[in-house]
Amino acid sequence: MRYVITNAKLLNGHRDMHVEEGKYIYVSDGKIEKITKSLQGGYDIIDLEGKYILPGLINMHVHLAGNGAHSGKQKDNKKTVDFLFSNPVTRTIAYQMVCNFAKLELYGGVTTIRTVGGLKDLDTRLRNEIKAGKKTGPMILAANEGITVEGGHMAGSVARVARNNEEAKRFVEASYAQGVDLVKLMITGGVLDAKEKGVPGEMKMPEDMIQAICKKAHQLGLLTSAHVESTEGVKAALRNGVDSIEHGAKPDQEMMELFKEKKAFLITTLSPALPFALFDPSVSKVDDTQLFNGKMVFDGIVECSKAALENHIPVGLGNDVGCPWITQYDFYRELVYFHKYVGVTNGFAIYTATLQNAILAGISDITGSIDAGKQADMIVVKENPLDDLNALKNIELVFTKGKMVHPKIKRDKEIEQRLDVFCK
Ligand SMILES: [Zn+2]
Repeated sequence: MRYVITNAKLLNGHRDMHVEEGKYIYVSDGKIEKITKSLQGGYDIIDLEGKYILPGLINMHVHLAGNGAHSGKQKDNKKTVDFLFSNPVTRTIAYQMVCNFAKLELYGGVTTIRTVGGLKDLDTRLRNEIKAGKKTGPMILAANEGITVEGGHMAGSVARVARNNEEAKRFVEASYAQGVDLVKLMITGGVLDAKEKGVPGEMKMPEDMIQAICKKAHQLGLLTSAHVESTEGVKAALRNGVDSIEHGAKPDQEMMELFKEKKAFLITTLSPALPFALFDPSVSKVDDTQLFNGKMVFDGIVECSKAALENHIPVGLGNDVGCPWITQYDFYRELVYFHKYVGVTNGFAIYTATLQNAILAGISDITGSIDAGKQADMIVVKENPLDDLNALKNIELVFTKGKMVHPKIKRDKEIEQRLDVFCK
């Protein structure tokens, strides 16, 4: 597989990226061999006819366990998962579903995903099959099942319940034995778990358990990422060794100092809270308390992201797909919201979702930008995303480790209609 990409408008994924024309991108053996200003023979030619090429996107917060279902009814996820793993037939169906979700990420222009809570060991299994070339999908950094506590976030669905610190440490060892790339823990509750106004994201996991998990993970050479949606929760997570705060909450000076002291980073996720906070309640089907708390969480995530950026704390992006109204194929919306609600430029949003995410995930030596020596993970769009990030909605072509994939997406009409309003 040797080819050269011609007639492309190149956006390389770096922070100062701008449109570069007249450059030839040479790909061989799945890697970007070189980028030059002259055309050389011996390569197949792929003519992009003036379209834009940029690095494949990296989605830092993925659950390969859902595709935007939004019935409004509180489902018993534990029951569903128990059923799926009750016999070999349903188990096979579950794995097939996970494989299809991952493929949709790729169709949406995402060439790397970081999973942070999945079904049993299916994430590492799929990661290995994709790596071996047996399945088509994005590169995966997998956490498999997360760790939670009794009555905690995602108990029994995409997280295992640890009853004490010893058990929590055993779970870390079990994940390590499965070959995970990181460990996920659920520290606070979520919007839907709260019973009163004003207390979303209440503490669920004791601080000594957070510390026990992080210590064990670090001993094994694994980073930890934690679901946290309250100010106290973020501070408790940082104090006890969590490396990445997923979501975030209303910031204060102490929180910012802790981020810096611990060299931790923030993964901003605007997509899951937006429907709770900004939809008409008749559509999102949330009650008064959930609406109030949803707004609080959304504002907290926005403010946390802004404060982190102002304080030079690294911020990455993920869309928490698996939550209601978020599909596996529209990660681009997270970039649109990042620009719209956090106020960054379009270029910075693209940089965050490509090279910055790669740096935070520890894979910037192999992907995240269009540079010689890196994997040929690239996407092609018709319009300039620096002008309007909605250009990323229609991905014309995806290159994953040099392999060309033509996206085929069947969009959910209702989700389109409800969310497009917020992407203008
Ligand atoms: Zn999540």
